Amino acid sequence: MLFTEFNFHPNLLEGIEASNYENATPVQEQVIPPIMAGKDVIASAQTGTGKTAAFLLPVMNRLLSNHVDGQVGALIVVPTRELAIQIAQHIEGLSYFTHLSSIAIYGGNDAQNFVAEKKALQMGADIIVCTPGRMIAHLNMGYVNMKGLQFLILDEADRMLDMGFQDDINKIIKALPVKRQNLLFSATMPVKIRQLAQKLLHDPVEINIAISKPPEKIIQKAYVVYEPQKLPLIKKILKETPFKNALIFCSRKQTVKELTRELKRGGVNVAEIHSDLEQSERESVLGAFTAGRIPVMVATDILSRGIDIDTIDVVINYDVPGDGEDYVHRIGRTARAEADGAAFTLIGEKEHNRFAAIEQLLGKEVEKVPVPEELGKAPSYNPRLRSGSGKRRPQRNFHRGSSKRR
Ligand code: AMP
Repeated sequence: MLFTEFNFHPNLLEGIEASNYENATPVQEQVIPPIMAGKDVIASAQTGTGKTAAFLLPVMNRLLSNHVDGQVGALIVVPTRELAIQIAQHIEGLSYFTHLSSIAIYGGNDAQNFVAEKKALQMGADIIVCTPGRMIAHLNMGYVNMKGLQFLILDEADRMLDMGFQDDINKIIKALPVKRQNLLFSATMPVKIRQLAQKLLHDPVEINIAISKPPEKIIQKAYVVYEPQKLPLIKKILKETPFKNALIFCSRKQTVKELTRELKRGGVNVAEIHSDLEQSERESVLGAFTAGRIPVMVATDILSRGIDIDTIDVVINYDVPGDGEDYVHRIGRTARAEADGAAFTLIGEKEHNRFAAIEQLLGKEVEKVPVPEELGKAPSYNPRLRSGSGKRRPQRNFHRGSSKRR
């Protein structure tokens, strides 16, 4: 589903496009409509599924038409300051072309921040992201004004309860107006979350994004590389790994075309498949691939679901897919039936954080293989490295205005 189908404010759509989001992830597809319809929502969705934008976008969209001067519009309560910062960065990127204001309120920073936080809590801000402890510190001072609050969002609620924030959350809720829309996100749904939900939510829509894990028999490996190292590394993997059929995924069709051209130039017998090909062309390429006449294929995520070719024993992710679901589907193209399979992911400089989110979703770390020396020095893995970190503007230099079809 395309983001243009949600009827979002044009300035918000610009932020979505500049953040390089094209299609909504499954959680976004399911969560955004009921939030826009004003319903309370409880959703079980892990990090890596796109859950942050799933609640941010409809909330921002409403606040764009329902902004009230001097009031806090939405309060997002999260367990850790890292998550607060991460969500604040998301907000900054997505709201870049709007007038929405936001602030992250978390412990451990300096007095100057405390003053800015106090001002936002007294004088209003469209969106406030906070950790429970810091919020309680402000509440105890007596100046917090939540009279106009429209949304309360609890993110990673199970983790907050595990960390012992139940009482703090109750205190925060007491300071809020009764009439508001509540959204509760949690990776798991233990009894204590159900109890919290019962107290907090009114007639909620329940959404469960259960993500299937990839089969254990797929050997998963990853390389942490600089972008220019990707092409020589793929050539090397193809040369040194025995396979019947290798499928290489790229997130964008432009990359598919470029990579295919480069591989052909390097003597690889390879074909490409993406949405620019007619159905008949796709079928003929797939036929040649299945029959082994063309052993290597480069594809967009158009092929990550549904195709079942027993002979695919190697999957290579030229880039890290947008969410965990796509990763699982991509690598699930190998090791079909009784066969074994290997999946290699190339993690570029801007993809560390996204891969870390996928690992979290998988519940395990994927082995990082050292990049062969002859390809030069490679970066080290830094799961906290966010794409575009340190930049004021969201990235918008990349295939802007390109077709949204995969
Ligand atoms: P989250 O599950 O909210 O932590 O998001 C995981 C990652 O996916 C973040 O890096 C987001 O910026 C990214 N993301 C969220 N929604 C989309 C989307 N629709 N398309 C591509 N990337 C997305």
